[in-house]
Amino acid sequence: MSLPRCNKCGVQMKWGKIFKSLWLGYKPVICEKCNTEHKIAFSSRGVVSFWIVTPMVFFGPFLSNYFNLNIFITILIMISISIFFSFFSPFMVKYNENSK
Ligand SMILES: [Zn+2]
Repeated sequence: MSLPRCNKCGVQMKWGKIFKSLWLGYKPVICEKCNTEHKIAFSSRGVVSFWIVTPMVFFGPFLSNYFNLNIFITILIMISISIFFSFFSPFMVKYNENSK
């Protein structure tokens, strides 16, 4: 797993920038060195939502049944799981140079 690189100059993008972009609805990321704007690849959007939603849907009900949790705690756990997994999502996305 590694962070995506700029398609033009090859500089590795910063984790924080990508993370922010993902949470702001897949905003374009601008390269620090050459100022090229990068848009998230369409397929990566699917990967990110799959990666965040699947563990939440899978572990949430499982933990709730296993520990007999109430709905509020289950929702809290599901949100925590999705936040935890989202920390890794910048490593899985691909960006394309934005052709204007
Ligand atoms: Zn660049």
